[in-house]
Amino acid sequence: MERTMPQTKPRVVIIGAGFGGLEAAKTLGREPVEITLIDRQNYHCFQPLLYQVATAALSPADVAWPIRHILRQQKNATVLMTEVKGIDLVARIVSTEAGPFSFDFLVIATGARNSYFGHDHWAEVAPGLKRIEDATRIRRNILSAFEEAEIAREDSERKRLLTFVIIGGGPTGVEMAGAIAEIARQTLARDFRRIDPRAARIVLIEGGPRLLPTFSAQHSSYARDTLAAMGVDVMTSSPVHECDGGGVDLPGGRIEAGSIIWAAGVMASPAAQWLSAEHDRGGRVVVCPDLSLQGFKDIFVIGDTASVKDASGRPVPGLASAAKQMGKYVGKLIAARVAGQSLPPFRYRHEGSLATIGRRAAVVELGPIQLKGFIGWMFWSAVHIYFLIGLRNRFVVAITWLWSYVTFKRGARLITEVPPIVHDQ
Ligand SMILES: Cc1cc2nc3c(=O)[nH]c(=O)nc-3n(C[C@H](O)[C@H](O)[C@H](O)COP(=O)(O)OP(=O)(O)OC[C@H]3O[C@@H](n4cnc5c(N)ncnc54)[C@H](O)[C@@H]3O)c2cc1C
Repeated sequence: MERTMPQTKPRVVIIGAGFGGLEAAKTLGREPVEITLIDRQNYHCFQPLLYQVATAALSPADVAWPIRHILRQQKNATVLMTEVKGIDLVARIVSTEAGPFSFDFLVIATGARNSYFGHDHWAEVAPGLKRIEDATRIRRNILSAFEEAEIAREDSERKRLLTFVIIGGGPTGVEMAGAIAEIARQTLARDFRRIDPRAARIVLIEGGPRLLPTFSAQHSSYARDTLAAMGVDVMTSSPVHECDGGGVDLPGGRIEAGSIIWAAGVMASPAAQWLSAEHDRGGRVVVCPDLSLQGFKDIFVIGDTASVKDASGRPVPGLASAAKQMGKYVGKLIAARVAGQSLPPFRYRHEGSLATIGRRAAVVELGPIQLKGFIGWMFWSAVHIYFLIGLRNRFVVAITWLWSYVTFKRGARLITEVPPIVHDQ
């Protein structure tokens, strides 16, 4: 049975409480609309710090907050935890596991998922980093590798277990490689008796010619040199041919590895299939300049699920700040429409690119401001603490980082149950 809310205000259904969906809901906070915010999880995840959960620096609760709590004071918003399965554009109904919901305005902000470029079976052996479950799985793999190496009887097996391969040289790959190098060389250096964790091999593999391809060439080589100084083997122009439980195959031969981490590609959520809409190669729905779906002016697609161009004709990147800008714009546009007004098209403003390389270095590109090294890392840390939600999390993360910086320790070194791999439809 279709569920209709007993009210006459326009019904706004927002799917996804990530950066885009949450911003849209907050922007509509004082407007005369009834918002239903649907997410399959009960928490909003701060993905930029997920790698710190995967590498035992932070705990899951430090980078995620209950959506219900974030919107507790927003009286016009109802939060529902259920998974969306489809959208009926004509009947204006969202189908979920909990039944259908009708809408006057619809905002689709369902983000992105890992893409294995047609090799979906690699997901089993090379987990990507999109969700909290992925991060705790990777943490388990990394920490278990050291434990298993301590028990291993054969040198060759010990060597394989202590080889960590990260595929993808973008910000996440660079961050993961730097953090695993620190775990091996510093955090665990004295914790084992039969193995020397410092002997671990960390290999960062990039298919293209350089690391951090969206950053300047200068920052890209800085990242490479910094990682090399931390003992990371960086291999560029090395497309992976095959991945299995024992290692990876490259044009130059095979690397036997105990842990493989996928940081090479994402594709949009399946919204384009729900909508039978035109999409780009990454599965992002091609939207109009006001972020609405072609032919449906009250249905919007935002964030990592939308394909939209900036003023100079370049695709808007899949970044948290872009998703937030789109969420804010759509919130304002819906409010304007409800008031019988209109708004000019969406304009993306690039707020900069940041990537950290271990605990003392980062690269920062904010227009004319270009930082690297320790000053870049200080800036990176301040920005991430500022954008975290909630005073408690800001405080906990700041103190945890300070403590790790002084002591080299990582407090969240727990090996927990392996969650099942989630295959997004
Ligand atoms: C590891 C990692 C590191 C990153 N680092 C940075 C960084 O340093 N800086 C930066 O700017 N960006 C970074 N990003 C990118 C940034 O996180 C994304 O661009 C941003 O999260 C996109 O926001 P969104 O609202 O489109 O989607 P998301 O934030 O991904 O939110 C999507 C939401 O939709 C929900 N959802 C999905 N499908 C369904 C469904 N069928 N039914 C119900 N709910 C559903 C999900 O549960 C989720 O809550 C990083 C991303 C990752 C994965």
